[in-house]
Amino acid sequence: MTDTLTTPLPPLPTSAGTPATLSARNVGAWFGDHQVLEGVDLEMKAGQVTALIGPSGCGKSTFLRILNRMHELVPGASLSGEVLIDGDDIYAPTMPPIESRRRIGMVFQKANPFPTMSIHDNVLSGLKLAGKGFGKGRAAEAGDLVEHSLRSAGLWDEVRNRLGAPGGSLSGGQQQRLCIARALAVSPDVLLMDEPCSALDPTSTRRVEETIAAIAHEVTVVIVTHNMQQAQRVSDRCAFFLAAENQPGHIVEQGSTADIFENPRDERTSDYVNGRF
Ligand code: ADP
Ligand code: MG
Repeated sequence: MTDTLTTPLPPLPTSAGTPATLSARNVGAWFGDHQVLEGVDLEMKAGQVTALIGPSGCGKSTFLRILNRMHELVPGASLSGEVLIDGDDIYAPTMPPIESRRRIGMVFQKANPFPTMSIHDNVLSGLKLAGKGFGKGRAAEAGDLVEHSLRSAGLWDEVRNRLGAPGGSLSGGQQQRLCIARALAVSPDVLLMDEPCSALDPTSTRRVEETIAAIAHEVTVVIVTHNMQQAQRVSDRCAFFLAAENQPGHIVEQGSTADIFENPRDERTSDYVNGRF
């Protein structure tokens, strides 16, 4: 197992994007009258990787959903505050949902490719939603994008001879990388990843981390992880979320990853990153 983690892998090509800065300003979130986030201020800088860490239930997934307008789809959910992408409010009426979907991609904890759709079509399946579908007669261009996206996600070599096979025929780790390829095909400015490796084997985890490293300067990455080594390996900055009993989640401390792990200001941060709760 450790072998697969130490064997060098060839460098991955990168995917073209225009990284954007995502800013959360005083964000609060509710499910009905139950408040789950309060006063969240966080700047996720263009071309950097920001890791969101903290115990289960402190609102990290809710926060990610707020960052790509999925929170508003949950019945009874509401929010306060602002989310800006390069200064533009993603909730402004002038920002069509199709625009925020194009600019902000998401990868979920549980890989969710379309199981009976081919690998090829899965990669392209996000484009229509983002208003970027290929018309008829552009199969070659589409094929190039499929290859590029699968290469960026570190999956090309494993699937190049079976692009017509259903997405559901891949292993769990491959399915997750297929979902990353699908998100990258849209060339997002920001990629949100909610515990993308929690169900993956070490090799797939490593591939995903390499993908993050390869795309990081071209896409702003926000990743939720419970794996402290992973946070240290992949992120430039960290935000530590915590919810005291019956209190909404909030950010206790944020800063460079080096400071959060080596020089935390808050005792709770120190306790958490050192595995004391
Ligand atoms: P984390 O990702 O940090 O584990 P979540 O964002 O999933 O935390 O959850 C934060 C809080 O919001 C929890 O108390 C959870 O029970 C609650 N919650 C999450 N989703 C919903 C929902 N759809 N309806 C009601 N409460 C929810
Ligand atoms: Mg979560």
